[in-house]
Amino acid sequence: MKYPSIAVGALGGTICMTADDAQVGALPRLSAQQLVSAVPGLVDIAEIHAATLLQLPSPSLNFAHVLDSLAWAESMVSAGANGIVLTQGTDTLEETAFLLDLLWTHPQPLVVTGAMRTPLTAGADGPANILAAVACAADSSSCGRGVCVVMNNTIHEARWVRKANSMSVETFESAVMGPAGMVLEGTPQYFRPPSKRYREHFAKPDMSVRVALVETCLGETGEMLNAVAQAGYHGIVISAYGAGHVSHDEAKCIEALAPRLPIVIATRTGSGSTAARTYGFPGSEIDLARRGAYFSGWLAPRKARLLLWLLLATAAPLSACAAAFEFWKRVDSIE
Ligand code: GLU
Repeated sequence: MKYPSIAVGALGGTICMTADDAQVGALPRLSAQQLVSAVPGLVDIAEIHAATLLQLPSPSLNFAHVLDSLAWAESMVSAGANGIVLTQGTDTLEETAFLLDLLWTHPQPLVVTGAMRTPLTAGADGPANILAAVACAADSSSCGRGVCVVMNNTIHEARWVRKANSMSVETFESAVMGPAGMVLEGTPQYFRPPSKRYREHFAKPDMSVRVALVETCLGETGEMLNAVAQAGYHGIVISAYGAGHVSHDEAKCIEALAPRLPIVIATRTGSGSTAARTYGFPGSEIDLARRGAYFSGWLAPRKARLLLWLLLATAAPLSACAAAFEFWKRVDSIE
């Protein structure tokens, strides 16, 4: 029997970390081949091509690493892979997966996974996560869904998932939207058709473009926003209160900055959408829209930053930025 061909690329993270000395702590060391060799039953579901792409803790991943991983995944698909699995640290997984999702144009599944416990810890979750991720990437029902994150036998769409607990194995969640499916007894089961996907063809990004993410908090006056603008950032995403609100002072600052650089407002609550027509106080969504800010809708702040980066780094005109964020205000499937 011919098994689906799955390419597994390892980028680092807890899933490949071992510790010789408890004082020093766990460090990324295992190769992709070592990771897949430790998974019982893997050879019975897929033909695996394993490649160690990086051995980094995920806080040290950057945009170039993600784009290089994307190029590797594309080359694997061109060489005949039926699906791709990337393993990495969970700390930045919600961001890398979404950046990949914005750029992944193939129907073949691209699945990102990791682990919360190192391979030497009791109850290590890495092998089970790799098995579930490969099962997902190897199944034709996963095609056309963009990038998914598989952890703890749960399948999440990259656009909604976030790490919601610092140490728990059950850390990933997709607030409001819920998981897309689960891997049950080795088979992915999807609970719904893929949600509407933002599809745009992006040119090669200019890696020198920088977009800042700034969280507003009690007593902020806009000093931080001005400092960021002065530091030469090309755009700012504000992780704002509630439905997309800031203080009156910050609102004045946004109005002054908006003609110079795009400012996108997202909600810092971790769940839900920004509003458009509920509140009218200074610093509210209606007021900030009048002052020239954009709103990210259902897109979380960290993900809004990645989208704004991609738009600015590919020299998208401001009208395209506005249209891009408009998409995320209606993510239901009614066209
Ligand atoms: N808990 C993280 C992980 O799951 C720590 C380090 C990292 O993100 O690489 O891998």
